[in-house]
Parts: sequence; C-alpha cells; structure tokens
Amino acid sequence: MEPVTPLEQALHAARALVLADLVAGEVAEADVVSLVEDAVAERRWWVEQWPDGAAYVAGLIAQDVQDALLDRYGRWPLCPVCGTGDPHALDVEPELGPDPHWVCHKAGVKVAAVGALRSATGGMASS
Ligand SMILES: [Zn+2]
Repeated sequence: MEPVTPLEQALHAARALVLADLVAGEVAEADVVSLVEDAVAERRWWVEQWPDGAAYVAGLIAQDVQDALLDRYGRWPLCPVCGTGDPHALDVEPELGPDPHWVCHKAGVKVAAVGALRSATGGMASS
C-alpha cells in the first residue's frame, strides 16, 4: 500500500468538513454528496499543480459546493445569525487561505469554522 500523501489528507479532511456542514444544514442527500465528490476531484487536480495550496482546499471546496448548490438548490448555508430580513447565505473567508470560516457580511460576524456549522445552527434546530 502506498502511504497517504499530505495532499490526500488535506482533500480528505476538506471533504469531511464540507460534508459535516451539509449534514448540519440537512442537505446531505446523495446527489449533493456527489457535488462534493466532483469538487474534491477538481481540487485534487488543482492542488497537484500547486501543492502549497493544500491548506486552502477546505475553503475552496466549500465555495465550489456553495456555487454548485446555488444553481441546483439555492442559497447554502443560510445565515443562522440574522433573525430578520431576507434570508441570505454565509460566505467563506478567506476565499483563498488557510483556516476558512463562514461569515455573515450583513451582521459582520464570523459564524463558525468551515466544518463546524452544526455548532452554530444546532441550538436553533433543537428548540
Ligand atoms: Zn446574516
């Protein structure tokens, strides 16, 4: 068996983080999971060309999936912070950097790390 490369580890971790956020938003259906697989496959090629970008793949894959969902399902993830006004999606920051977070630009707050949306939305779902 070949050892797991750091690139594969980064991709695997990114996939797990984005899937965790999809589960938190209850949109982790089979066809949505395949969107994640597509995004991971594209970013595998990308990060093979630019290994220094390995720390960025989680934020990039989150944005890729967000874009793909916008076409097919609508906005994701919806902001759990703003209780009033139009429903709006969170954005990933930094767009290209390590340690990505979901932020609400309307309220100007960091909502959760990518992969930790459940902690931001769980309280609302259970009440
Ligand atoms: Zn908001």
